[in-house]
Amino acid sequence: MAEKPRECTACVADVRWLTRDVIEVDLAMIDPKALSFEAGQWVSVPFGPKIVRPYTIASSPLRPRVLTLSADVVPGGIGSRWFRELAPGATVGFKGPTGGFVFHRSDPRRVLFVAEEIGIVPIRSIVTELYETGFGRPATLVSWGRDPGTLVYDGEFRSLARRYPGFAYVPVVREPGGGWSGDKGEAHDAVDRLVSSVADLVAYVSGGGETINRVRQVLVAKGLDRKAVKWEKFW
Ligand SMILES: Cc1cc2nc3c(=O)[nH]c(=O)nc-3n(C[C@H](O)[C@H](O)[C@H](O)COP(=O)(O)OP(=O)(O)OC[C@H]3O[C@@H](n4cnc5c(N)ncnc54)[C@H](O)[C@@H]3O)c2cc1C
Repeated sequence: MAEKPRECTACVADVRWLTRDVIEVDLAMIDPKALSFEAGQWVSVPFGPKIVRPYTIASSPLRPRVLTLSADVVPGGIGSRWFRELAPGATVGFKGPTGGFVFHRSDPRRVLFVAEEIGIVPIRSIVTELYETGFGRPATLVSWGRDPGTLVYDGEFRSLARRYPGFAYVPVVREPGGGWSGDKGEAHDAVDRLVSSVADLVAYVSGGGETINRVRQVLVAKGLDRKAVKWEKFW
């Protein structure tokens, strides 16, 4: 069970560049020593009175003592600068966990995840937890990026798909460049091609508002109930 949101402190344990734009940070919890949360939830980082930035926990709830956050630092505002300046040993404060973009494994429907670039973060936490705890049912992930260098956690999902035949990973890029053998185009076009029936389907879509709307339009046009499209709007 997730906790109610509370003030937390943690120590930066590691900082890595995941792609040219994305920084991943491990935060070793200090207070509380472990934070229980549901996969897909986020924490909010304070920057002054009424100024906060939400960041989703990228790691699995099975690892409550060390949380991983991943941020695209291209927006360049106060949150991006905070990530760029984090260094191992620093103490950070935040409040959490919060958020309802969570997957209920008792839901019997077939699940389609769709992520736009850094919107992959909650889905990474959800998918990681599902497969490390023996989720036996099929799931499909469409991960969209402008080009292959913007596909966050690409190698990890390819590896997961090799290990779990029920997990279908569909990376899609707008500008493939040389050597790309995957799908090309926009996220909603890929969803249109991939989904032939919406019977017993639930979709989890995360990223920018425009992509969420377009993916939802495609699925609703195929007959899916709007409420069967869960979404997390990062921007
Ligand atoms: C529930 C929730 C969870 C989030 N989780 C994450 C996360 O895990 N990782 C993460 O990187 N961000 C996440 N965000 C976005 C994050 O909170 C900030 O908006 C982002 O880091 C930009 O903050 P900033 O202060 O650097 O720039 P700002 O000055 O606040 O933003 C500048 C502009 O960029 C837009 N923007 C924000 N992010 C992007 C983006 N990736 N691509 C294009 N435009 C963008 C903003 O809407 C704004 O218009 C989340 C947002 C929400 C609402």
